[in-house]
Amino acid sequence: MQRMPTAPRADLHCHSTISDGTLTPEQVAERAHARGVQLWALTDHDEVGGQHRAAARAAALGMDYLTGVEISITFAGKTVHIVGLGVDPDDAPLVQGLAATRDGRDERGREMGAQLEAIGIHGAYEGALRYAGNPALLARPHFARYLVETGVCRDTAEVFRKYLAEGKPGFVPHRWATLGDAVRWIVGAGGVAVIAHPGRYHFGANEEYGLFMEFKAHGGRGVEVVTGSHSPAEYPVYAAMAREFELAASTGSDFHSPEESHADLGSLPPLPADLTPVWSLLQHRIRRAAH
Ligand code: AMP
Ligand code: MN
Ligand code: MN
Ligand code: MN
Repeated sequence: MQRMPTAPRADLHCHSTISDGTLTPEQVAERAHARGVQLWALTDHDEVGGQHRAAARAAALGMDYLTGVEISITFAGKTVHIVGLGVDPDDAPLVQGLAATRDGRDERGREMGAQLEAIGIHGAYEGALRYAGNPALLARPHFARYLVETGVCRDTAEVFRKYLAEGKPGFVPHRWATLGDAVRWIVGAGGVAVIAHPGRYHFGANEEYGLFMEFKAHGGRGVEVVTGSHSPAEYPVYAAMAREFELAASTGSDFHSPEESHADLGSLPPLPADLTPVWSLLQHRIRRAAH
């Protein structure tokens, strides 16, 4: 029998200035490496424009790399995120699909600004844009940072609670990609699709079952179990779901910023040993660094 190599310290979910993080792809690479990450993926929202930069810096640092993206979809009336790992960042249908998904973020941002204006918070659209490293990816955290800067709230968590979460005055619903589209783009680009932080959606049991079943039917193969967007109590819940649905398990901090993130890069405990780690499906896609 072949001896299993020990599991690498993996962080397969985080963000840079290409989407709503505050560090550049190179800075995220440096921080991941400094914190002991051995297998890394940068997974910016709806954009693969940082992938070549991330891979180049990982290689220079001697850190193994998997390409990544986190795609926003609408499922059962809610926003759900699907992570794609090992995708070819130059795959045309993926790149075009993501561009179409990003479309409308600016219009949505203007509406958010107008709704905040109506309750006496001025200049939020322009203010948020100043925080957006990539204006095509204007996102709620950029608004949150502006509202913290101007003293409306103490921290971004408070901004989401009071103004930006669903049902709050600055929230503008948006129709993202479909589950089928996202999985097709990822699989078509040679990657593995992973349900991101399922504990965050607060679906009822039926909707959650529907999400997992439809995801599998479309060709999805993984689920995040240990993530900075789950509480430790949720790890065993989604480990059980991975077993039940025969999905590979993924892990990542969901790091956005040294000031804001729940979990820093490389800080989470390992995946339960009996689960199939998602990277075992992606051995041929890992860009191995010379150590
Ligand atoms: P958007 O894609 O514009 O809807 O923004 C979604 C992003 O907002 C997520 O990727 C997180 O970075 C952030 N976010 C969502 N909910 C919260 C929350 N409750 N507290 C802090 N950040 C959040
Ligand atoms: Mn984000
Ligand atoms: Mn997410
Ligand atoms: Mn994320």
